Amino acid sequence: MAISMRVDLSNMLAGHQDVTGSGPLDVKLEARGVSGIARIDGELKLPLQLLCSRCLTPLEEELVIPFHERFTQQAELVREEDEENTHIVADAKVELTPYLEEAVWLALPYAPVCREDCLGLCPDCGTNRNERPCACHEQKRDPRLAGLADFFKE
Ligand SMILES: [Zn+2]
Ligand SMILES: [Zn+2]
Repeated sequence: MAISMRVDLSNMLAGHQDVTGSGPLDVKLEARGVSGIARIDGELKLPLQLLCSRCLTPLEEELVIPFHERFTQQAELVREEDEENTHIVADAKVELTPYLEEAVWLALPYAPVCREDCLGLCPDCGTNRNERPCACHEQKRDPRLAGLADFFKE
């Protein structure tokens, strides 16, 4: 059985500091019953608007999240190697939304960046150092050389 739907996760994502907006979650799953276990496999896609964690520039990203979960009403059917993603459920009807939300939450990028070598904002003056350098750190001595400089002063 194919499961195809769109889920609005904006309420959940509003609680995440790096996420400024999101499109609907695009859910494409295939559900199969194999010897008492429902196997649900497929892919979730989520368009996200984020802020670069270093320079706060808005950026867009589409998360593609693999989804593989198993559900059963009979605990004795669960094999050890499947324990982690097999859920024992009381009801034959499973509400998928919490599992979708969990998969998305775990896949959210930790400290997203606009580019790998983003220089970020200067912690002292707030200048976006990707756009122009600031003078804050130029006069400061390299702390690793400080000991030596003191030595030469004597
Ligand atoms: Zn950046
Ligand atoms: Zn600065």
